[in-house]
Amino acid sequence: MDYYSGPISRLIEEFAKLPGVGRKTAQRLAFHVINMDKDQVKALAHAIVEAKNNITYCSTCCNIADKNPCSICDSPNRTSDIICVVEDPRDVAAMERTKEFHGKYHVLHGTISPMDSITPDMLKIKELVGRMANPELKEVILATNPTIEGEATAMYIARLIKPFNIKVTRIAHGLPVGADIEYADEVTITKALEGRREIF
Ligand SMILES: [Zn+2]
Repeated sequence: MDYYSGPISRLIEEFAKLPGVGRKTAQRLAFHVINMDKDQVKALAHAIVEAKNNITYCSTCCNIADKNPCSICDSPNRTSDIICVVEDPRDVAAMERTKEFHGKYHVLHGTISPMDSITPDMLKIKELVGRMANPELKEVILATNPTIEGEATAMYIARLIKPFNIKVTRIAHGLPVGADIEYADEVTITKALEGRREIF
């Protein structure tokens, strides 16, 4: 039971809907916001609305982007013969921090997870298969997380891609099982990429 006035209560409710924000944190954030300068609050609200309004999805790699095609798909400095498949846009950011990968990406936006009723058609797998027709493409690296869902998704995609006669590799387990690529350090990601092995 909350004893806050309507507007504060509503603000707490909204914060509490965010991932990883519990009731206490939501209250702390709400009180922080109401103690901020009006200009700061406006800047925060504006940044949220602008981010939502100006973000689009690259129709090639399905990553979030500010233009379509995104700057990576569009870059003449990136090779088109290799695609690194990741679960999440944050994994692209983690890979980019290593500065070791110069190919293109494909963002699935999740993993196949029967437990959470996430089926392959809910991910950007069709779009990935559509990219296999590119004659320049030589290798697909499956860089989903080393979790049960990540492994199952990698195997599912590997089977789909096999008929295209493109080399399919899986990143090495420099990443501990159950780990999250997003939080891995640059050295671990680089090692995982270097140690990738061919599937089948
Ligand atoms: Zn793109």
